[in-house]
Formats: sequence, C-alpha cells, structure tokens
Amino acid sequence: MPKIRTSAIQEWFGRLPGSMGIGNVRYTTSGKCDERSLIKGTQPVTAMKNGSKVAISFNGNVVNTFQLRNEIERKFHDFEYDCDSDLICHKLLIELMKHKDLASAVKACMQEIEGAFSVAGITEKGDFFAFKDPHGIRPLCAGHSPDGSTYVFSSETVSLDINDFERDFELEPGELVTVTNNGFERQKLVNGDRKAFCAFEFAYFARPDSRFDDKYVYEVREEFGRNLVRENLGIVKDADIILSVPETGDDPAMGVHEASGIRWERATRRHRYVTERAFLLLSKDRTSTIDRKVNILGPKVKGKRIIVVEDSIVRSDTTRIIVEKLRKMGAKKVYVFVTFPRIIGPCLYGIDMATYGQLIGSKHSPEEIAEIIDADAVCYQSLEGLVKATGFKKDDLCMACLTGKYPTPLAQRIADVMKKRFQEGYEETGRLYEIEEAAAQAA
Ligand code: SF4
Repeated sequence: MPKIRTSAIQEWFGRLPGSMGIGNVRYTTSGKCDERSLIKGTQPVTAMKNGSKVAISFNGNVVNTFQLRNEIERKFHDFEYDCDSDLICHKLLIELMKHKDLASAVKACMQEIEGAFSVAGITEKGDFFAFKDPHGIRPLCAGHSPDGSTYVFSSETVSLDINDFERDFELEPGELVTVTNNGFERQKLVNGDRKAFCAFEFAYFARPDSRFDDKYVYEVREEFGRNLVRENLGIVKDADIILSVPETGDDPAMGVHEASGIRWERATRRHRYVTERAFLLLSKDRTSTIDRKVNILGPKVKGKRIIVVEDSIVRSDTTRIIVEKLRKMGAKKVYVFVTFPRIIGPCLYGIDMATYGQLIGSKHSPEEIAEIIDADAVCYQSLEGLVKATGFKKDDLCMACLTGKYPTPLAQRIADVMKKRFQEGYEETGRLYEIEEAAAQAA
C-alpha cells in the first residue's frame, strides 16, 4: 500500500483553502490492488460536466457494477472505470444534472445503485452532505465540535472521540443529511424493505472502541465470548488456559475468561510494528506476515489444554499457523472458539471475501475444518448467540455470508448462480460482482 508520512499530510492540510473536507482510508473491494490503481482510487473522487461538479468519499461496495458502467459510459465518453467510487460519483453527477436538487439526485442514486454505500460528499455549490443506502449496511454517524462550529460525518464514533467531538446520531438507512447554517437537516428519502447492518462489523471490522446503537463494540465482543462458553460447556471443562489471537480475539477472550473462570494467559503477543492486516493481504504475503506478527510464548503453552479465541475464520491461514505453532510448542490440546459463525458465502457489500473459493467454510464443516487446521475442535458461535449479543433484531442485521440470504436482489442472484457453478467445479476468476459473465447470468 502507498505510504504517506503523517508530517507530510499535516503540512498539506495546512496549505488547503476552504472550510470543508472529505477523505477516506480506502479498503479495496473493487478494482485492482497494484500500487498505481490504489493511488488512482484514492478518495475523494470527483466528477464534473458542464460546470457541475461533485466530490465523494464512500465506504461499502457496489453490486450492479456493469449496469452502472454502461449508463455512465453513454454519458461520459472519456469515462475510465477504476473502482466503484467512480461509479457512485458519476451516477450522482448524472442525477444532479437531471434533477437540479440534491435530495432528488440522491434519492435516484439510492433507488438505482445496488449495494452498500455510506457516502460523504460536497457539490460545487457548497452543499456538504452524507447519505446511506436503503439497507444501511455500513455504519455512518454525525457529530459536532463542542463549540458547534464544526460538523462531521464519520464511519465510526472513535474518530469523533479522539477529536473531542460529540456524536449526534447514526444515519438511518435511506437517509440524506445535509449541513446547514442551523446544523444538520435530516431527510428520509427511501424506505427500504428492511435494515441490514453488517454483523461482521461487530466481530472483526469495526474498532472495539467505536459505538453502534450506544453499545461499544468491545462490549458486544465480550458477550460473544461469554456466549461461546455457554454453548460449549463440555469443552470448557477440558481446558487449562485461554489464549487470544491478538487483537480482535482479545475482547471475546475476556468474555470467555469471565464466564468460565479459566485463566486468560497473555502468551500470544502482537508485534507492535507489523501493522498489516493479514486479512487484507494477497495470499503470498499473508503467511509470513502472520508469522512475524504473532509471537507465542512456548513455556506458557507446553503441556496445556488450550482454548484459542479467534474472531473469525475466512481462509483459515491465521488460525492454521497459530495451531501449528502451538502444537510445535507442545500444547496438549487445542480448541478454537470462533466468535463469528461459519462463513459459507461471499460478501458483496464491502468486505473483501468475494468468492466462494477463498472461504474454507464454503466447502467444509466445522469438523472438517478442525481436521484441516489440526485443532481438536473448532467451535463457532451460533447465529442466535451472535444476534442476541449485538442487541439488534435478527432482521435488522445482514448475515448473508453466514446464511446465504442476501438483502438485495442482484446480489442474491449472483451468489446463487455462482454457488451452483462453484459446486460444479467452476474456478472463480475474481470477485463475483466483477465477473461480467456472472453479472450477465444473474441479470
Ligand atoms: S455479507 Fe457478511 S460481511 Fe458482508 S455485509 Fe453481510 S454480514 Fe457483513
């Protein structure tokens, strides 16, 4: 990933004119991952035509990529698609030119773009706004500075906390919020058939010190741990110590410790300066990064029956390497407790696990996975336990990667078509929503 020094960013900030700004730490779920493409895809992105101009930053993922590309290419002859942020930005500009007012343009986007999109943007007229897709899949909150002079939108509350800002509210699905001289103006533009907030935010993606619906993420993760104990009492009786896979396993490990009374041995330590998220890396880099990132203290695990607490198993690389290390160090038994239930299908909404082939859970049962990674057992949390701990209603959560039930129609059709082909032996050539053939078959 391109590296920019903090001092260079601060120096650049100081030179910027104006009183509004948007930005994004992009997590790539569309387009290419080489350095040139990552730099090109840096947000905010802009679109302009006939004197109209808009800039946006967004979190999420577009599903109907090809349909939008065709529409945009007809209107912008020099349009070059790099990633889905370009699609949202150009689509919004098309609708702004058509409708003239922001609310109508955003409403058309909400109705015609399928996927997850939490967007912050600025128009050439000086509108500062944010909106969420009709299912509210990704988080986005609004807040203000203590003196009321500055208004902000942010994916997570943690960025408000560290700037001493106050959180005002989480945007509703299908809501547009604009900043006016009198503060926030809220408009619900589209009523979706259901809310579908990403359940994976709770298990892995969000920072533990962020809040959703007034609950800190780390509190939910602790409850995941307590629940894993309630669901696996037999195994708990056969364990001497708990280990966590740092750091997303730390909070649930606390819960496992509290509910079982078993010592949480802090014998897995994360290297402070190896900061890559192994989950995001290309497979060739992943194994060596995990090896460098997590140090296990051999004398503390030798001869022990161990519960390893992990947030999720996607490909299984991290868990497999950790179990392997524990075995080499003389662990007597290794049980793996996983807070996120078994992932059986791809995510089409902004988490980069967008094929069946990469998911160990799409092909194997928990027992088979335990055998593959050489664990004595792999215990996934139940769907009911997950839902209960979040405090959300079941139907307000997206759990498509766990259940195969996608909240939007094209995603459901793509997932169904490609699942059948995958089971017949087809090898996926990229993220499902970026395979033209898959989109055509699902259309
Ligand atoms: S499919 Fe899974 S990871 Fe993707 S938005 Fe839904 S719950 Fe989150």
